[in-house]
Amino acid sequence: MAEPGTFVLATTNPNKAREIREIFASCDLGIELVDRPASVGEVEETEETLLGNARLKARALVEATGLPAIAEDTGMEVEALAGAPGVRSARYAGEPSDDEANVDKVLSELKPRVGPDQRRARFVTVAVAMWPDGRETIAEGSVEGWIAGERRGRGGFGYDPVFVPFESDGRTFGELAEVSPDAKNALSHRGRAFRSLAHRLASGTPLETETETEMETKAEPAGRHRRWLPRTVRHLAELLIVGFIIEYFVVPQIGGTHEALHVLANANPFLPLAALVLEILSLVSYFQFTRTLIPKESDPGLVTLSRIQLSTLALSHCVPGGSAVGYSLGYRLLLRSGVNTTDAGFALATQGLGSAVVLNAIFLLGLIVSIPLYGFQPAYLTVAIIGVLLLAFLAGLVVLFTKGDERAARLVRTIGAKVPFLEPETLPRLFARLVERVKELSTDRRRLGESVTFASANWLFDMGSLFVFVGAFGRWVNPVALVIAYGVANIAAAIPLTPGGLGVVEATVSGILVGFGTPRTIAIWGVIGWRLVNFWLPIPVGGAAYLSLKVHPPADDQAGLAARRAIWRARWGWVVELFGRDAPTPVASGRFPSVSSLEDADAPAPRAPL
Ligand code: IMP
Repeated sequence: MAEPGTFVLATTNPNKAREIREIFASCDLGIELVDRPASVGEVEETEETLLGNARLKARALVEATGLPAIAEDTGMEVEALAGAPGVRSARYAGEPSDDEANVDKVLSELKPRVGPDQRRARFVTVAVAMWPDGRETIAEGSVEGWIAGERRGRGGFGYDPVFVPFESDGRTFGELAEVSPDAKNALSHRGRAFRSLAHRLASGTPLETETETEMETKAEPAGRHRRWLPRTVRHLAELLIVGFIIEYFVVPQIGGTHEALHVLANANPFLPLAALVLEILSLVSYFQFTRTLIPKESDPGLVTLSRIQLSTLALSHCVPGGSAVGYSLGYRLLLRSGVNTTDAGFALATQGLGSAVVLNAIFLLGLIVSIPLYGFQPAYLTVAIIGVLLLAFLAGLVVLFTKGDERAARLVRTIGAKVPFLEPETLPRLFARLVERVKELSTDRRRLGESVTFASANWLFDMGSLFVFVGAFGRWVNPVALVIAYGVANIAAAIPLTPGGLGVVEATVSGILVGFGTPRTIAIWGVIGWRLVNFWLPIPVGGAAYLSLKVHPPADDQAGLAARRAIWRARWGWVVELFGRDAPTPVASGRFPSVSSLEDADAPAPRAPL
């Protein structure tokens, strides 16, 4: 087991040493760093991976001093340069290493490319703590961004003046570091790698061999989730398979096997198809709802947004309390499709909150209508009150947060720190901006109207799908009972117990429907039929959507499409003219306006690292 203590710092770069000290100091985990002795010579970086080089440096220091050592290696990968300078970032413009010349070289190579999409880049740091007995702890941090057209800012070092992290407000690392070291460290690859290393050391996390092999692949995007995924995914997959078997083979037999088969055999075979169509409409409304929350100029389009949201839906159906994880994946995917941090954070947060508000409103309405029909029902009223209280708590948090209340800020930070995939600093920052955007939306009546319409359509179509599924098994339930069952179940599903409320939703909806007079086996078949399209289907479809984002990244959707059109016109336009027909639609304005940009278009489209 690793443990915190004293380490000798391997780096010879004073800028890096300063940053690493600042980062460890901000973690305050009792890790002492001593300077590298001047007697130890420079270590040549001869390995082909960042991890390999970091290990070389750590080992050299351990051997020279007999003390545990901490080393790191950093590379910047530019997509349009096929991942260069990468592991050769220090010597990109030749030996000896020269920061100015390196930056000039990258700038001149990227000259023909304009805009963040075509100049995407990423910094990756691999940090290694090594002990004299050969044990080691490894951590990795990365930051996505793009290369600015010219140098900006006098802070930082190396490529800092030209690197703009997507998560910043457009400032380069050079400008951020000029304001304060923390401003850069909070977002930077090194900040992330060393905060993660410090926590691993403090918690005694031993070396994970799986992690090691993953990090040997030098050009892969990494981060906490890569390490988090493999083992957890296996367990979750097993749990989901067991859940599926129980849901479809055990639960229907609660009222007797014979009865289950009888209801199934007498089901209408066409209605489930209609229910599927309703579910698809519900999903499309959900995508459109999100689109109403993204400003027109950064709208990634329905196709891209559907792929992003299906991916997040799939993930949130696989992980207990998955909405939070889904949101942070959605956030990253939106950033990679060109939506800026404020718009992405706003869209996702408002989508979640807005949806919850609309659901509660529908539920309350159903409850009020139910009073003359079924009388006063304290149990359901309690759920409604809990829903309203939860929303009021969130609203209160937002208000306190805007007023600069320290406790509210601390709470938001704590929640942010607990969400996997999300940097702890991201949530409070988003929260602050969110409030401004909510104010903006509340004055834009038309957009607000569209948002409410699509959010309601999302819930109502989904509810309709449930209604038709139960109908397919022989009973049309009273719509008021449906609204109550659906409302209670979805509010209960917000409790992060199981992925996507699996089991909770089924038990609640069928239990309440039975309470309102639906025969048990019909209610069960109806509910699990609906869950097949509402819960299970989005998992493989969302998985495929995620893969499609990897194969055809969002940049393709806009720039790529315009480029393909331009190429087509240049190659085949004469055929069209020969036959006297109109030339195809002119090239979409903006990204590929000139003939010279056709060369760009021929180059492989930038791949968004997902
Ligand atoms: P190495 O890790 O010392 O091999 O650094 C690789 C190259 O990346 C050097 O040219 C550094 O100047 C540059 N570099 C490393 N870290 C940073 C950073 O945080 N910002 C900008 N450039 C960096």
